[in-house]
Amino acid sequence: MIIYADNAATTKMSQTALDAMLPCFTEAYGNPSSPHHIGQEAAKLLIAARKTIADLIGAEPSEIIFTSGGSEADNQAIVTAAILGAKKGKKHIISTKIEHHAVLHTLKKLEKDGYEVTLLDVHENGIVRLEDLDAAIRPDTALVTIMYANNEIGTIQPIAEIGALCKEKGVFFHTDAVQAAGHLPVNVKEQNIDMLSLSAHKFHGPKGAGVLFVRRGIPITAIIEGGAQERGKRAGTENMPAIVGMAAAFKEACDNMSENMPKVQLLRDKLIDGLLKLDEVILNGDREKRLPGNVNVSVKGIEGESLLMMLDMQGICASSGSACTSGSLDPSHVLLAIGLIHEVAHGSLRISLSEYTTEEEVDYILEKLPPIVERLRNMSPVWKKMKEVK
Ligand SMILES: *Cc1c(COP(=O)(O)O)cnc(C)c1O
Repeated sequence: MIIYADNAATTKMSQTALDAMLPCFTEAYGNPSSPHHIGQEAAKLLIAARKTIADLIGAEPSEIIFTSGGSEADNQAIVTAAILGAKKGKKHIISTKIEHHAVLHTLKKLEKDGYEVTLLDVHENGIVRLEDLDAAIRPDTALVTIMYANNEIGTIQPIAEIGALCKEKGVFFHTDAVQAAGHLPVNVKEQNIDMLSLSAHKFHGPKGAGVLFVRRGIPITAIIEGGAQERGKRAGTENMPAIVGMAAAFKEACDNMSENMPKVQLLRDKLIDGLLKLDEVILNGDREKRLPGNVNVSVKGIEGESLLMMLDMQGICASSGSACTSGSLDPSHVLLAIGLIHEVAHGSLRISLSEYTTEEEVDYILEKLPPIVERLRNMSPVWKKMKEVK
């Protein structure tokens, strides 16, 4: 049995998205900037994709900028909002300790350029305290950037409340909604979101396409200069197949959300309940305010990397913490931010499900995992020491 349970890293393309993309390679292959009829075929597809995505998040088509993905959208939102702020003498930015590296590394760069960054702590369950945000906002705060839902531990932030607070204080609010889009309802108007990033490959669309939503009237600038595409906000010939595939995948995900997500959530809860029955296994992140497909546990006394390898040998593809941190020896910044000690953080496992996950697959994981954990613990000096102390 082969089980793909790493949907927070990327997802399998949906057939609908693939079907929508293929004509962009074979017939409507023109450049949407070309005035001739083949170009204009592509231009029509581009307009339709923009409208589809705008409608699904409560935005206007003119507020949608197509990018190469979530990372580029995050970079553009943060860097250009910082520049806008600096023009008014505001050089303070607020974010959290649990953001994606696309946000954290961009903020690091801005710090070197003379901006001041406040990274908020989170509760043990991975949720930001509104009172901390309130206290951190200053007259010179240019931007608040807080992710919608976390890619490692799945926690969902109180986005509407954060949006309302930022609006009241007159501070721009950007949210990295890459994990939320297509999985949770998003409405930029109701939630008072000024800027939002999303990425196609996290909701069964193709890799290499994303969106930056920017509320009308916020004069953000391009970070990629060149042609006048995207109303001068992002140069470069549009990645038409990926944009069209993204719109199709997003529509499919949003249209089926109320039917699919409760099912995914049931499987998630079955998996969490099963894993928590094991000795010395803890759940990371809030139990309720959690992405429908996210399971993240720490299995004390073992190395997550060994666990992953042995799961892979059984056909199960999962992740340790985050795909961005695997390969490095540092424990995940997110797990440390929710208070885990290094040893426990190292034993963490992220299993992320999707609407393609079946109950049979969850049962298979619950059957294969316990004996692997037992085997690894029998070889683990850390586990022996833990048991002696008890
Ligand atoms: C995947 C991810 C990104 C990066 O998106 P790409 O399209 O891969 O660049 C950013 N933020 C979060 C929360 C993510 O999960």
